[in-house]
Amino acid sequence: MKWSCRDKKKNGNGKKRIVFGIKGRIVIYFTAFVLMMLTLIWFLQIALLDSFYRNAKTRELRTVAEVLSEYAGTPDLREKAFEIAGNYKICVLVYEAGNISAGSETVSVECSPLCLIHHLPEDALKDYAQRAAENGGSLLETFGMDSSGIRGNRPEKPVNHKKVISVTVTRGKDGVDYVIFSDSEFTPLHSVETLLSMQFSWLAAGVILLAVISAVLFAVNISKPLISMNESAKKLAKGDYRPNFRVEGYRETRELAETLNYAAAEISRADTLRSELVANVSHDLRTPLTMISGYAEVMRDIPGENTPENIQTIIDETAHLTALVNDMLDLSKIESGSRKPVMTEFDLTEAASEVMARYAHLREHDGYRMTFSADADVRILADRMMITQVLCNLVNNAVNYGGEARSVDVTLRLFDNDGRPVSHLPGTPFPDKLKARITVSDKGDGIAPENISKIWDRYYKVDIQHRRAAVGTGLGLSIVREILQLHGAEFGVESTLGRGSDFWFEFGVLSVSEKT
Ligand code: ADP
Repeated sequence: MKWSCRDKKKNGNGKKRIVFGIKGRIVIYFTAFVLMMLTLIWFLQIALLDSFYRNAKTRELRTVAEVLSEYAGTPDLREKAFEIAGNYKICVLVYEAGNISAGSETVSVECSPLCLIHHLPEDALKDYAQRAAENGGSLLETFGMDSSGIRGNRPEKPVNHKKVISVTVTRGKDGVDYVIFSDSEFTPLHSVETLLSMQFSWLAAGVILLAVISAVLFAVNISKPLISMNESAKKLAKGDYRPNFRVEGYRETRELAETLNYAAAEISRADTLRSELVANVSHDLRTPLTMISGYAEVMRDIPGENTPENIQTIIDETAHLTALVNDMLDLSKIESGSRKPVMTEFDLTEAASEVMARYAHLREHDGYRMTFSADADVRILADRMMITQVLCNLVNNAVNYGGEARSVDVTLRLFDNDGRPVSHLPGTPFPDKLKARITVSDKGDGIAPENISKIWDRYYKVDIQHRRAAVGTGLGLSIVREILQLHGAEFGVESTLGRGSDFWFEFGVLSVSEKT
């Protein structure tokens, strides 16, 4: 087992700062806690033992005085005095106030081996009675004593015994004033204190030892998963992205390990994507560049090769390169969040028909059949430029992958909230809460079901040999996906191999009117 509880680190001033590890901290906290507890116990049990005891005894005497005051001047006084003195193991003397002299006690009980009040001279008793009367009817006096008897009323150490005398002057039920003397012995507590102190020392030593051992075990247990996680994190930092955080220990470390494993898997995925991206981008950029430089060199070196076809190839490749760079920039701007949608209300029907108008030259020169039909004039809330780009990319693909059929149909249909098509009679109002779905359909080769989920990925091209694949950047659908996701719009594709594809996306309608 590797034990390192301290780790020296340099602070800002260049001095070494000691940073305790989790094990060191747990041991320190645990020990400090135990020491605090022991100090508290020592204080309550030993330091305050004497005063607790004295208070308890004083309370006893007060209780006795109160009870006997109740019975003063009644026939039950004597019986009560014996009962209570026996219970508390104390001495009691009751005199009539005017008759304090040897032999004239109303009650005399000796239930303790050293009854001080029974050995005090008459004058002393009278003096106490006098002082008690002046003191509002009660007096408490403490005596230090040695085994031979009284030492004085200001106890000096060392003393073996201490005595407390309680004097109460009270009016009895028979109208006579009585003086009730009681005394109680403070059993010497020094020996108890010494015994407790000794016990406490052993207890403290044992508890501290146990605390340190259990703190170490506890700390090892707690820190084990963290240490192993730290090792794995170091590997991760060095580029080992395999999820190797062990899910062990307590709930938090298990959750942390799971999160880190997930993070490692994500980093690994991102790293793979990054490598693929770099490979794809460099390949895609290199291909047209090689073509351009190759054709340019041929035209420079070989007389007669300066043909319009060769020049057109250079122009085409340059256009492809420009498209690729533009798409890369667009995608990275959208992905990084630097190009944010500017939401405005606009006529989607109008925007779609404008896009279709741009492809008019294809109809004229290449014999394409391009149609656009809309159920109504629909206004939506979105970034018009972005939605136009989505439509352009989808129509471009329909043209590029539409095959010999050369047919591209764009429709704008209305659907209700449950996804049912809305059939609207001219002159009647439109229902509320409609969705507008734009579908771009071609009759090309379609996409194989196993490729459908991949076509939205960056740089994915189903078939590199495909007709006009050279003009594709592999980024068009990624841009479409990013834009539609930014808008929270639903989108998808239905495609059948050999039959063609329908790419669609949907927006909530703000307002709708009959087509103008
Ligand atoms: P590209 O620039 O290559 O067109 P896209 O991201 O737009 O990149 O499309 C990715 C791939 O999806 C294309 O290379 C193509 O194989 C396939 N694809 C896209 N649209 C269609 C379509 N309408 N019909 C058939 N295949 C399509």
